[in-house]
Amino acid sequence: MLTMKEVFDRFDEIGCCSFATPDGHGGVEARIAHFFAYDDEGLYLRTMDVKPFYRQLKQSGRLAVNGERTEAKVVFDENNLPLFKPGYQMRVAGEVRELSMAEVEAKAPHDRNFNVAVYDIAKYPETRVFVLHRFHGELYDYDYAMVNRDHKLHRERFAFGGDAYEEPGLRITDDCIACGTCLAGCSFKAIVPGEPYAILGERCDECGNCYHACPAGAAVSKGE
Ligand code: SF4
Ligand code: SF4
Repeated sequence: MLTMKEVFDRFDEIGCCSFATPDGHGGVEARIAHFFAYDDEGLYLRTMDVKPFYRQLKQSGRLAVNGERTEAKVVFDENNLPLFKPGYQMRVAGEVRELSMAEVEAKAPHDRNFNVAVYDIAKYPETRVFVLHRFHGELYDYDYAMVNRDHKLHRERFAFGGDAYEEPGLRITDDCIACGTCLAGCSFKAIVPGEPYAILGERCDECGNCYHACPAGAAVSKGE
């Protein structure tokens, strides 16, 4: 499982991400923001007390964040189809709580990022700090052209603060008759022959090809 530092570093490398909250009226709102620090307790973000973002964080206590690190330039092959460079997506979702100023100041001597936060808050006293402290998430690392490895996808899920996560991917039940039909249709190299066949969840894109092709109905989603 990824460490908190690794989760933060990935988000930090991405930079600005989409931060989504319930809007309090049955909908959701998203805006661009970033995590400015991490420690054993979680991932930290700042906002201002007059923003809808602040009210929504206070009312719901919920936050979902995602972002992508990729090459902006799209290259096309001889068939005029896009060639995707290797990249990754990160997403997390969970519960937030607001920190007191005393809590933020106590972290500053040990952490440069909190030191900057204290400096900024002195200039903008309406700043408020939250920590995403109980959450789950996923690293979705793709290499569709298989430049650096022999399969397209590596997914890694994680959870912190007592939250839980479900492993990714479809699964194959004992109804499998080992006909091999699914193998040819999986461009993610996620299916392993056997009796029954099996799916490597960390490689599975949940594209559904095996689900629809299986004559025995043996390829199913995790909830089934
Ligand atoms: S297509 Fe279905 S029955 Fe055939 S090998 Fe795949 S999972 Fe098993
Ligand atoms: S859902 Fe798609 S990626 Fe996953 S095992 Fe089936 S065919 Fe492969």
